Amino acid sequence: MEKENEKSCVYLLTICAVYANIYVATAHGGVAQLGERTVRIRKVESSILFVSTIKTTPSEWFFFFVNASLEVFVWGYLMKTALITGASRGIGRAVARELAHQGWAVGINYLNRADKARELVEELTAAGCQAAMFQADVADSAAVAEMVRKLGETFSPVELVVNNAGVSGQGLFQDTTDEMWDRYLAVNLSGARNTVKAALPHMISEKRGCIVNISSIWGQRGASCEVAYSCTKAGIIALTRSLAMELAPSGIRVNCVAPGVINTDMVQVLGQETVEELIRETPLGRLGTPEDIAYAVAFFASERAGFITGQVLTADGGFIV
Ligand code: NAP
Repeated sequence: MEKENEKSCVYLLTICAVYANIYVATAHGGVAQLGERTVRIRKVESSILFVSTIKTTPSEWFFFFVNASLEVFVWGYLMKTALITGASRGIGRAVARELAHQGWAVGINYLNRADKARELVEELTAAGCQAAMFQADVADSAAVAEMVRKLGETFSPVELVVNNAGVSGQGLFQDTTDEMWDRYLAVNLSGARNTVKAALPHMISEKRGCIVNISSIWGQRGASCEVAYSCTKAGIIALTRSLAMELAPSGIRVNCVAPGVINTDMVQVLGQETVEELIRETPLGRLGTPEDIAYAVAFFASERAGFITGQVLTADGGFIV
């Protein structure tokens, strides 16, 4: 009789633990606050911990596994996945880090720097976040579609796309070859089109989703010796506004961040003298940090921006005021 009571007690406590976890996860959109950090609730792990502290018989373990399967199902349903293109370095890296710490499972896309992407995945995983890396040239629509499919299988279908991957270069308009022109367009503009196209079917069927595009102040103002780059970044703004209108009835928001001069490899190649000149031209008197842009992206991605779509947020220290 005592053994029966002990069993009932285990069943009851397991049910309570599982449903308390599901309740908390549901109430908080799958994330919880731990000190200053937002973490994704790991229901299965907490239940394993709970059950492993109790002496269990095979039938009790079977009971636990049925519950754990239910949790995996709910977990999959609650998990929110973001794809950040060009996340191995610079702005994309900071965006991936910020979103991961806010509870997103992040797909880290890169082109060449597998070492930097791996380093970031290891850092985020060690911090209890969900992260995986995917090599793909965003200019290659088939590779992007495959990446979006694999990311969906790894975590859950993509609900947030951050179109960040980009290339830049300086030179006179007349010296810009057909190949250079085509490459800027293919990566900076078609790249964004490719990721959106691959992620949209799921977003439309779910009637929810979010897209954040990274443009540039040069796309807003134009830039001498960066005509091709500026055209692609102006195109990103048109893409943002047009898609925002087309996708609003499907519950999908599309916004854009236009950074000023941000301290990344892309700016450091300009040389010390040019960088100092750009700092002098920035009213706030400093280069922006990748985190300055990541916070703006995270805002657009959050529920707090739920009524905002088709907008361009300039984060440039006052450069083009
Ligand atoms: P970055 O430091 O040069 O990093 C570029 C990132 O994009 C890297 O992760 C790179 O991957 C990836 N990438 C490049 N081509 C790719 C391709 N074809 N497919 C997939 N990934 C690709 O650049 P950033 O300064 O962080 O710039 C990020 C975005 O912000 C760009 O769109 C840029 O135009 C925009 N932006 C930057 C500034 C600025 O001042 N830095 C200002 C305005 C706008 P690998 O590491 O594998 O090469």
